[in-house]
Amino acid sequence: MDLAKRQFDAIVIGGGGAGLRAVVELARGGLRAAVVSKLFPTRSHTVAAQGGISAALGNVTPDNWHWHMYDTVKGSDYLGDQDSIEYMCRQAPEAIFELEHMGLPFSRLDDGRIYQRPFGGMSQNYGGPQASRTCAAADRTGHAMLHTLYQQSLKAGVHFFDEYFAVDLVFNKDGTAAGCVVIEIESGEPLLIQAGAVVLATGGGGRIYRHTTNAFSNTGDGLGMILRAGLPLQDMEFWQFHPTGVANAGVLITEGSRGEGGYLLNGSGERFMERYAPNAKDLAGRDVVARAMALEILEGRGCGPKKDYVELKLDHLGEEIIEERLPSIREIAIKFANVDPVETPIPVVPTVHYMMGGIPTNRFAQVITHKNGTDEIIAGLYAVGECASVSVHGSNRLGSNSLLDLVIFGRAAGKHIIEHHGDFRVDDLADNATDMALSRIARWDSAGGESPDTIREGMLDVVQNYFGVFRTEDNMQAGLKKFAKLLPQMATTAISDHSKIYNTARIEALELENLLLVAAATVHSAAARKESRGAHARDDYPDRNDAEWIKHTLYFADDDRLDYRPVQMQPLTVESFPPKKRTY
Ligand SMILES: Cc1cc2nc3c(=O)[nH]c(=O)nc-3n(C[C@H](O)[C@H](O)[C@H](O)COP(=O)(O)OP(=O)(O)OC[C@H]3O[C@@H](n4cnc5c(N)ncnc54)[C@H](O)[C@@H]3O)c2cc1C
Repeated sequence: MDLAKRQFDAIVIGGGGAGLRAVVELARGGLRAAVVSKLFPTRSHTVAAQGGISAALGNVTPDNWHWHMYDTVKGSDYLGDQDSIEYMCRQAPEAIFELEHMGLPFSRLDDGRIYQRPFGGMSQNYGGPQASRTCAAADRTGHAMLHTLYQQSLKAGVHFFDEYFAVDLVFNKDGTAAGCVVIEIESGEPLLIQAGAVVLATGGGGRIYRHTTNAFSNTGDGLGMILRAGLPLQDMEFWQFHPTGVANAGVLITEGSRGEGGYLLNGSGERFMERYAPNAKDLAGRDVVARAMALEILEGRGCGPKKDYVELKLDHLGEEIIEERLPSIREIAIKFANVDPVETPIPVVPTVHYMMGGIPTNRFAQVITHKNGTDEIIAGLYAVGECASVSVHGSNRLGSNSLLDLVIFGRAAGKHIIEHHGDFRVDDLADNATDMALSRIARWDSAGGESPDTIREGMLDVVQNYFGVFRTEDNMQAGLKKFAKLLPQMATTAISDHSKIYNTARIEALELENLLLVAAATVHSAAARKESRGAHARDDYPDRNDAEWIKHTLYFADDDRLDYRPVQMQPLTVESFPPKKRTY
């Protein structure tokens, strides 16, 4: 079959905040750039971000980028790369002003400057009083940001392949990036898009868990593409549980609601965070708050008839503040929990929210692999946003640092590609470069077999029940055993709809293949890390073990192979923050 082809200077896979920030840079720099997105871009998960984006502007409390850097290194539980963290925190104010000048409608202080609210783990003066560092557009910051970036992309002349699903990457003979194979969802037709620079911006994979704040589209597709290309994923054991998902619904209540003064109560009406984090209380790091909540519930101090949730109290803020700063939170609580937070606390539980691990990159967003103890760059291939592991978040991300990560490294990828674009090529495709993608598509034309949905159920059970907030050796080994059966079983499944037009069953099956790879990386990486750090909390190894475990986990899909690479403890220009005990 002759495959239809298109060619660009650069192709960005993903139209969320990270992909759009990258493509704005590329198009403004004069490159012919396109975005492939399985969703209409403004429906990407970035639109759901509520609380805000961090930057040391100092508009409300005194601030300094170096304090932001300290908080991010500490928040990462010393697994973040300090060169990337320095770069991000230093560039943050400039990146925010750029967004402001693009037209992002931030909330304002009376004097007209950008409004900033306190968020967990953000401090003044290296662990002192809380810093108000999170710039917000009410509780709809991601919505405002995504629409601003989309408008700027249109203005800059970006070509959009809306509702096209990227299946697999395509490489040149020498292993450099050459493009990707996609399917137009409407027609079911495959298309080869050739470009010497390929940016993966496919977002998170939170749908490997049953209870998650993530959109249904967060299926880790870019991560699947990387593993199938023989490249590794990094630090996939670290999944952030957000403290406040609406109980039984999973919908997020932003940390900004605690930033505005809300706090958590257990079944006896006690403000229990005072016991776990005497200084920061409800605004400690997310891993700390989520574990405290899980313990309260496990030890029988939860709320409700089954004592299976805790409550978030907001009514003392008053209706006016709630309406002005948290209008969507009020709407979500009424719709999903049937309570009006102006009068009644919201039932909440820790819910999977964010993937700290991902595709390993350097601070220019170039994808790297690791062979015989050394890093190697895959020329022309970049990853940005939640799918990437730069790694600025290490083993635990601070709230409002992800939106920042998107714009900082989206922009960095754009700049690097513009500078090196003369080096990239597309004229030497590897033999069979498109075979894997085409046979993966064709595979779903086969008839007869169990539905892939049973495999999805199996995966959700294993990941949710054996790799949750608390982990132990026995439990994880039992989970690994169950998980091992799923991949072979997946090979014998089939879908009943073989039509071409808008065949969502086929797209969901292709997504599930990606989810299974993300889950495999998660369970194998988690079982191997014998310590507690950030979001990876083990009952049998309750302490952090800096002597042996300050290193990034790498997972390769062949034989579920693990490798490790060092954490970059050396920042670019300032002194390193050495590991110390993490208290809030
Ligand atoms: C409910 C919620 C609230 C949040 N609030 C905040 C907050 O206040 N502050 C903060 O800093 N962080 C927040 N986060 C985290 C942050 O929003 C995300 O990490 C971030 O938006 C991810 O952006 P992204 O551009 O990497 O991916 P996304 O926005 O998820 O976009 C992914 C894109 O990839 C495309 N795509 C994926 N797979 C394919 C494929 N196979 N083919 C073609 N296209 C594909 C999709 O169409 C989409 O356009 C929140 C997250 C959630 C879930």
